[in-house]
Amino acid sequence: MGRKRVLIVGGGYAGVSAAALLCCQFEVTLLDPKTFFEPAPMAPHSLVVPASAPATLVDFPAAWHPKQGLLVGLTSNGARGTATLQSGEAREFDYALLATGSSYPGAIKPPVDQLTDRAARLKAVSDVGRQVAAAAAVVVVGGGSVGIEVAAEVAERFPGKKVTLVCSGGLLERMDGRARDFAAAWLLKHGVEVLTGERISDWGGLGDGAPAPATLRTASGREISGDIVFKCVGVRPATALFAGSLSAEQRAPNGSIAVEPTLQVRGWRNVFAAGDCTNTPEEKTAAFAGVAATVAAGNIIVLHAGKELKTYPEGTFGGLLPPMAGGFTLGASAGVLQIGSNVQTGAGPAKAKGVINWLFARIAHGSRFWAWLYGNMRVVMVKSMTREARKAAARKEAAAAHGTAAVGAAAPAAA
Ligand SMILES: Cc1cc2nc3c(=O)[nH]c(=O)nc-3n(C[C@H](O)[C@H](O)[C@H](O)COP(=O)(O)OP(=O)(O)OC[C@H]3O[C@@H](n4cnc5c(N)ncnc54)[C@H](O)[C@@H]3O)c2cc1C
Repeated sequence: MGRKRVLIVGGGYAGVSAAALLCCQFEVTLLDPKTFFEPAPMAPHSLVVPASAPATLVDFPAAWHPKQGLLVGLTSNGARGTATLQSGEAREFDYALLATGSSYPGAIKPPVDQLTDRAARLKAVSDVGRQVAAAAAVVVVGGGSVGIEVAAEVAERFPGKKVTLVCSGGLLERMDGRARDFAAAWLLKHGVEVLTGERISDWGGLGDGAPAPATLRTASGREISGDIVFKCVGVRPATALFAGSLSAEQRAPNGSIAVEPTLQVRGWRNVFAAGDCTNTPEEKTAAFAGVAATVAAGNIIVLHAGKELKTYPEGTFGGLLPPMAGGFTLGASAGVLQIGSNVQTGAGPAKAKGVINWLFARIAHGSRFWAWLYGNMRVVMVKSMTREARKAAARKEAAAAHGTAAVGAAAPAAA
């Protein structure tokens, strides 16, 4: 009897992490509308410095049987299933992992509803880069880590341009105050005008496609014009194309895939989901997508062996929800990394991001050595997150006992 077939849908952080684990034991097919892995955290730099983009795109390795295509439908009887591609092709599987991630406006991520090859993505990136280079005024909407990274890249690369960052609330609202203060000081020093509490009421025709010139209006009546405007808000689970084949119990209200604690899609024993496309309540980051996909891939292995499945996130983080964990860079040599109450600022986080991106590119290239090494780093990271989750739980308990609000408790899930 041949090896069992595992269909991995989506070649982002979750899909790549799972493919690296499963390809030895199963007949893996990696389905993605792209022919390559692109690290989303590198996109702000690539869009501002397009010459750096080609080196960041990694073609999927042949060992994962990459298939360029889009999932539009799925059925399963719990033991076997069939995936339907937009091309009309049907693919049968024994196990599947849905790892379709999220869509992001403004060319920050490649489109999730059309096939994209390397040349098309590089053209899209250099079109944006050309517009940035030619612009006198650059506007970035969104005070989360992505908006801050884009504004910082432009300000550092082009010190003469007017860069405005607009957000409806404050900067980095889910992160620790030290992260916010560090980012605010860096942006001020680099001449970025930060407008907080300004909700955009009229986007001036700017849609979710590539960044473009626009005049925005805010609810307070302020008018803000940019020769190029980046929309860095509106991340969404990328499930719309195949949502029609999910039942009401398999869809969460925000459009993500509803999973059991074992990461099995509700009602389908042999179909799992992990990463940004699911309704698990952790911060939606590449780091957590990798951890969840490792649990899901491990569960495919133990399900096949008839053993007990692990749960995520609680069973992975000592019975608790993981703490707020995230990071961002401010240009080439500054950044922030937060794991719970542990906040690092300065050059270290920027260096760490470079190392992690380099390492993950090796995994996406199919290296089993780097996948093994990274797997061990993940174990250390999960242990440190578990410690932080315990500290946050203890603080919460102490605060409840004293009738005060806990500081640094686990953050709500990212939108
Ligand atoms: C600018 C930016 C900076 C970031 N920085 C960080 C950071 O520093 N650290 C961090 O931890 N996180 C960071 N994140 C968040 C991180 O990138 C995401 O959480 C992560 O990409 C999620 O991984 P994923 O595999 O779940 O989904 P994705 O990376 O979104 O991958 C999903 C894949 O599925 C494919 N797909 C979608 N729909 C279909 C379909 N119908 N059929 C087949 N394939 C499909 C897509 O083409 C894509 O390749 C950043 C995000 C952005 C946008």
